[in-house]
Amino acid sequence: MFEHIERVPGDAILGLIEAFKKDTNPQKVDLGVGVYRDSQGNTPVMRAVKEAEARLLKNETTKTYIGSHGAPAYGEAVLPLVLGASSPVLEANRASATQSPGGTGALRLAADFVASQMPGKGIWVSDPTWPNHHGIFTSAGIKLHKYPYVDADNRLDFAGMLAALKKIPEGDVVVLHACCHNPTGFDLSNEQWQEVVEVLQDRKLLPLVDFAYQGFGEGLDEDAYGVRLLSEKLDEVIITSSCSKNFGIYCERTGCLIMVARNAEQMENVRSQVAIVARENYSNPPAHGGAIVSEILHDAELSAIWREELTEMRDRINTLRRDFVEALKPYGLDQKYACVAEQRGMFSYTGLTPEQVDRLRAEFGIYMVRSGRANVAGFSHENLPYLAKAIAMVNE
Ligand code: PMP
Repeated sequence: MFEHIERVPGDAILGLIEAFKKDTNPQKVDLGVGVYRDSQGNTPVMRAVKEAEARLLKNETTKTYIGSHGAPAYGEAVLPLVLGASSPVLEANRASATQSPGGTGALRLAADFVASQMPGKGIWVSDPTWPNHHGIFTSAGIKLHKYPYVDADNRLDFAGMLAALKKIPEGDVVVLHACCHNPTGFDLSNEQWQEVVEVLQDRKLLPLVDFAYQGFGEGLDEDAYGVRLLSEKLDEVIITSSCSKNFGIYCERTGCLIMVARNAEQMENVRSQVAIVARENYSNPPAHGGAIVSEILHDAELSAIWREELTEMRDRINTLRRDFVEALKPYGLDQKYACVAEQRGMFSYTGLTPEQVDRLRAEFGIYMVRSGRANVAGFSHENLPYLAKAIAMVNE
């Protein structure tokens, strides 16, 4: 029965991890994987999370199912985090939250919802985008299209993006990264968000905003600017949020699908359909991650600790971005790579070519994906001089 099954090559990132592990170069640097790293190269459990878990362990009384929409307390905590505490959208009861297994799970729910409730509509993603977007939407049976995002000089191609959005057929879905665009790190300014909203409104397009890095760019509220603007200006918005990065609970699979509708009644209709999609995929979401987030966000003391820790992570990344460019100054390359300091989030489209990436790996033990995307959290004050020197060598 399985004779015809072909083996497919493994994930490029996983291959990179394996190759990195085997590399014996003592100065090797891993800029490949997509998780936060501290200055020691670890991805630790946040203090607020540890404390929340201790409380949960002590107080937990049951492990019964939590329902297709997840724990109500989780939704009540995530909605104001994403949409703003005094959001008119929440005031009008236009938003529904469904706890999901990670941001990926929320994307899959969104994809299945679009496929079943909006048959024939296409989905538009930035070129490039997080590669999994392609698989998630096409496997749900939706036709995928791309709009430009980066130009040949490795800059945000906003004019190209806007021109493409203006040609999208009415009713199609447009995937936007709320902040910390993966893989490029190029984000829209507030003014650019305003222009995007106008086009979406004019063209009657449905935004699906992927919000996987809230708090990693400029701040929890600053990063939500686009999401909140869209939700307040448009009748309908889909938001997929993730707690993997900002709570550091990658393996607990904690995300949220937020559906914003025109009014409370339509929101309830949509919500009832989302429950079916969730039930058909996995029935109920895993409870633990949502319980951690809920425990933190409903407790002022834990929230304050969490915000502080998140600020530390964000500041570390943004400092490393500036220090990377600074380290390239002696080689006259600071202008060439200045974009790294301007980009936001965990990732950076450095502008390094695939050939340069290959050389960095073979000659210096520096690992990143061939697109030139680097995980900035893999930089450290110890490895920056080495990285800068290696980059200078492959630029000669
Ligand atoms: N969207 C984007 C843009 C991402 O980068 C990621 C994580 N790499 C996700 C969604 C999914 O996040 P999660 O791990 O919560 O499923």
